[in-house]
Amino acid sequence: MSAQGSSVAVIGGGLGGLAAACVAAARGHKVTLYDKNAWIGGKAAVLHEDGFRFDMGPTILTVPRVLERIFAEAGRNLSDYLDLVRLDPQWRCFFDDGTQIDLQENIDAMASAMDRFAPGKNTGEGYKRFQEISAHLHEISNKFFFWKPVEDLFDTINIRANMNPGTLRDVLSLRMGSSVAGTIRSKVKDERLAQMLDHFTQYVGSSPYGSPAVLCAIAHMQAADGVWYPMGGTRAVAEALAKLATELGATIRTDSDIASLKIVNNAVEGVVLASGETVAYDNVISNMDSIRTYRELVGGEVGEHYAKKDFEPACSGVVLYLGLNKRYDHVLHHDFVFSRDPEEEFDYIYRRGEPAPDPTCYLAAPAATDPSVAPEGGEALYVLVHTPYLRPHHDWSQMFPAYRQVIIDKLKRTAGMADIEERIVVERHLTPQDIHDRYKVLNGAIYGLASHGKFMGAFKPGNRSRQVQGLYLAGGAAHPGPGMPMVMMSGWIAADALDADSKAENLRDVS
Ligand SMILES: Cc1cc2nc3c(=O)[nH]c(=O)nc-3n(C[C@H](O)[C@H](O)[C@H](O)COP(=O)(O)OP(=O)(O)OC[C@H]3O[C@@H](n4cnc5c(N)ncnc54)[C@H](O)[C@@H]3O)c2cc1C
Repeated sequence: MSAQGSSVAVIGGGLGGLAAACVAAARGHKVTLYDKNAWIGGKAAVLHEDGFRFDMGPTILTVPRVLERIFAEAGRNLSDYLDLVRLDPQWRCFFDDGTQIDLQENIDAMASAMDRFAPGKNTGEGYKRFQEISAHLHEISNKFFFWKPVEDLFDTINIRANMNPGTLRDVLSLRMGSSVAGTIRSKVKDERLAQMLDHFTQYVGSSPYGSPAVLCAIAHMQAADGVWYPMGGTRAVAEALAKLATELGATIRTDSDIASLKIVNNAVEGVVLASGETVAYDNVISNMDSIRTYRELVGGEVGEHYAKKDFEPACSGVVLYLGLNKRYDHVLHHDFVFSRDPEEEFDYIYRRGEPAPDPTCYLAAPAATDPSVAPEGGEALYVLVHTPYLRPHHDWSQMFPAYRQVIIDKLKRTAGMADIEERIVVERHLTPQDIHDRYKVLNGAIYGLASHGKFMGAFKPGNRSRQVQGLYLAGGAAHPGPGMPMVMMSGWIAADALDADSKAENLRDVS
């Protein structure tokens, strides 16, 4: 390792890998980022088709302060790289009984809207109490989970050293043993509003009935930090990070599949490309799915250990990209078209492992915010339905046509889009199998690992490998988890841990 910083390979140019590359390069390391695909950004990909432009993966950007912190690492202002527009109301919600409500950022305004929506049930007060719990859980998450390389509770809370009343209070207030769905329903006594709030756990591809209460913190983050649209689409986030990484001296190599790591005496010495080329590095940050990193890139006993462990993939999904010749004026930029029964829906997706018969559809209709997505007057409508992760008997080439019809029928029935088929002029789609093949994920999972388990469900493989020295992990299947802000935080944590270890090693070398 040189005094100028270590040499670092980043495997994967998803948002987590790009964030890690930026932070490592800003701290003076010599970074090369490899991605097997021809584009950078991983799931934050873009589709151009006959004058329409679709974000293919993430569409809802929250907690932009994570991005700000990454740009600040290099002394840059995020606003010089990205034009972010705040969206409020955040989502329009269409329920199966024909009613609708807008999720607003302001908690008091939302509480009043809830009281008007479901009179006599005290839902507004219940929502305020829920948001208070959510804010407190966020505070605890900030203290123990965020911006640090955590793998389990013992990594973050030194039970023996810190077992004072304050720590005990914090641990107890994590509400271990309670689920997100239970916490919501204890405060908000209207099934439709509870269903709306359940959907924060869909940001992490997990069932609200199986997820630990600490994930309620997402509701606070969205209310406090807002929902944002980067002009040019979420694709612009990947492009901004790639620009920053390049300006900081990182090299980006696309069409470069990494087949394995060179490991000697449990320490990383380099990467081996599928082409057979071997390149030496002091450190590696893997943005490939963490379980597949251990199984396929590390291999040996460590790989076998991870192959035997019972990790549950998060959900997968089907996306329809519909170029419409006419916009719908009654939808917002982000919309949820809810299923008839959340318990039935989540039971199908997360327990039975089959697509739900009456699914919730998430819609992005960005043309009103960004007319460049479609020819004049048209809409680049994006429809996402969560499905189970891939099971051996799932053949989406057979399953897709019938499920597409289920989705279209749902939009006609519940979203007021009776004439949608007449408006479609361009149509493409993405299935769980496509997601699996394009991004090298675990069983087609969109959001890495599920956060199921009311006690330890929030924990993921840590960012500093305990098994292989010099290996760091970033991305949706590593701590702190999936979604744009969390994977970028994960990249920051991985690069920060690498930097701290390199500095400690340099100090040892000179002493
Ligand atoms: C349809 C869809 C909708 C979503 N909606 C939202 C949303 O609205 N809001 C939100 O916040 N999040 C959303 N997400 C989740 C979000 O996109 C992900 O959590 C995040 O983008 C994942 O980033 P990542 O860093 O884990 O890497 P990924 O995007 O998974 O990228 C990993 C990269 O690594 C590359 N790679 C893997 N293995 C290798 C290898 N061996 N060699 C070289 N390259 C390799 C892959 O090619 C890929 O480019 C959505 C995802 C999808 C698919």
